[in-house]
Amino acid sequence: MRWSQTYIPTLRQQQSDAELISHQLLLRAGYIRKLGAGIYLYLPLMQRVIEKFSNIVREEMNRAGGLEITMSVLCPAELWQQSGRYDTIGKEQMRLKDRHQHDMVLCGTHEESVTYLVSGELKSYKQLPLNLYQIQVKFRDEIRPRFGLMRGREFIMKDAYTFDADETSFAKTYQGMVDAYFAIFRRAGIEVVKVESDTGAMGGKAAHEFMLLVDTNAGEEIIINCEKCKYAANVEKAEFTDPANLKIDNELKDMEKVDTPGAATIEEVTAFLKVDASRLVKTLMYMADGKPVAALIRGDRDLNEIKLKNAVKANELEMANPEQVQQYTGAPVGFAGPIGLKENVKILVDPLVAKLKNFIVGANENEKHILNVNLGRDFKAAHTVDLSLAREGDICPRCGGRLIKRDGIEVGNTFMLGTKYSETLGAKYLDAEGKEHPCIMGSYGIGITRTPQAVLEKYFDDKGIIWPKSIAPYLVELIPISMESPEQVETAEKIYNLLRDNNIEVLYDDRPERAGVKFNDADLVGLPIRITIGDKSLKQGKVELKARSEKDMELVAVEDIVRAVKKLAERLN
Ligand code: ATP
Ligand code: MG
Repeated sequence: MRWSQTYIPTLRQQQSDAELISHQLLLRAGYIRKLGAGIYLYLPLMQRVIEKFSNIVREEMNRAGGLEITMSVLCPAELWQQSGRYDTIGKEQMRLKDRHQHDMVLCGTHEESVTYLVSGELKSYKQLPLNLYQIQVKFRDEIRPRFGLMRGREFIMKDAYTFDADETSFAKTYQGMVDAYFAIFRRAGIEVVKVESDTGAMGGKAAHEFMLLVDTNAGEEIIINCEKCKYAANVEKAEFTDPANLKIDNELKDMEKVDTPGAATIEEVTAFLKVDASRLVKTLMYMADGKPVAALIRGDRDLNEIKLKNAVKANELEMANPEQVQQYTGAPVGFAGPIGLKENVKILVDPLVAKLKNFIVGANENEKHILNVNLGRDFKAAHTVDLSLAREGDICPRCGGRLIKRDGIEVGNTFMLGTKYSETLGAKYLDAEGKEHPCIMGSYGIGITRTPQAVLEKYFDDKGIIWPKSIAPYLVELIPISMESPEQVETAEKIYNLLRDNNIEVLYDDRPERAGVKFNDADLVGLPIRITIGDKSLKQGKVELKARSEKDMELVAVEDIVRAVKKLAERLN
């Protein structure tokens, strides 16, 4: 491709609305433009990157037995009502009415559509396993669209869905997809880690996320992993063993209400009462689908809202506002406690609290706390359930090692759906005896637009992008220093044709610009290999060959250029 004939609007200035280096670079190097919040246009270079990555995904999905299809983005609301998700998925789902006032959705995922597709048509166990996938646009009205292609409201996803007859067969299918995922990300130039994750609105039994660990500010996810064994989980899901070695009283003491003037936060109360935070129990008031819930957590730990949401099986969980706190506790924020709450408040206790004796809680009265409170004797809980957020320094629940915390970008995930959708939407098959069973399903996503941007969090320097060759828009950038030199132009045309004849993808910067401008743009755009044609080396019949990721260049005879480019490419990432 000739630069003069394509469209690469590079920008010199920093873009003020891009916090991430990857987002900044895609804007500045002319790959993407923003149309609205979370809505992006993919320019010619980005289109090629997306195609390259899609093809890697396609090859590995096909290898894993996947069959490519395309499902509509537009879907009648009825299907989503049938699965129950029309009500549970909430505001993230884009909804609209057609001209007949019929409710429709723009799909953010396609479990409903794919299950509809096979239901009734799938007859026999002999047709299983079945693995269908698509590479398709998705719509999600994200609360916080941000970070460019990382979190868009319209984006491209590869989504695959599998149907198996039994658990043994499903386990093989699932492992096949996991293997394919590792292969895909490796080919795209990144190493990912597989972590246990919450199943969220998708439902189902278990799930894994594929994370790119980053040291930049791009990680939206927190991963807890063990230094010793392989345990790794999203913090939303992470389990842990408490490292605190607390002295627990033997005897139950009498309760005592005390004044704590001006002390509402954990820090203030512990300072005022001169006790360790682990003796205090926080009572956190939440509204779960509109119903009040009190979560009791040890004073030195934080609540994991996802664990709480799962424990109360809520679709929407929100912290109670000050009016609601007043309504259910009878006190302002900061003095909630388990004793004397309104009767309809459900009390959930973390196991670390259940172990304590003679702890301190809010008194549900302004500026008062109660000492020597005991679960069972002084109040009852609906459940004791793990509600604490794991943190660095906790103990691994599997091996006793030390847990550490990392930031990550979720580039893909895999869900064990079980029979949730096959039962509600009727994806059933007949076994050898003619008995009907629901299929065991899996669902598997990869961010087709998110992943290439995530890759850039690893592949850049202070001058711009450095693409791994597998998803670079072109392999080579060809730059004659001066378009006014007939010899240089003649050589450039010759090399351009040679490379193209050998199926080497090349971007030929044929603009009548100064060399400095071309070099800056080349560094910004980030193609893996640069060929520079200048008068000095041309006198010896040679051109400069250089990797974007390396400092040194080599001089190569024009006739030798194809072989030299191939050799250099082989050694590059
Ligand atoms: P997240 O936790 O980041 O919101 P998710 O759990 O909602 O992701 P899935 O519904 O499983 O993600 O989607 C599969 C893949 O699609 C994700 O792993 C991610 O790579 C990509 N993806 C999800 N949401 C977005 C988005 N808003 N913009 C771009 N890519 C996305
Ligand atoms: Mg999401």
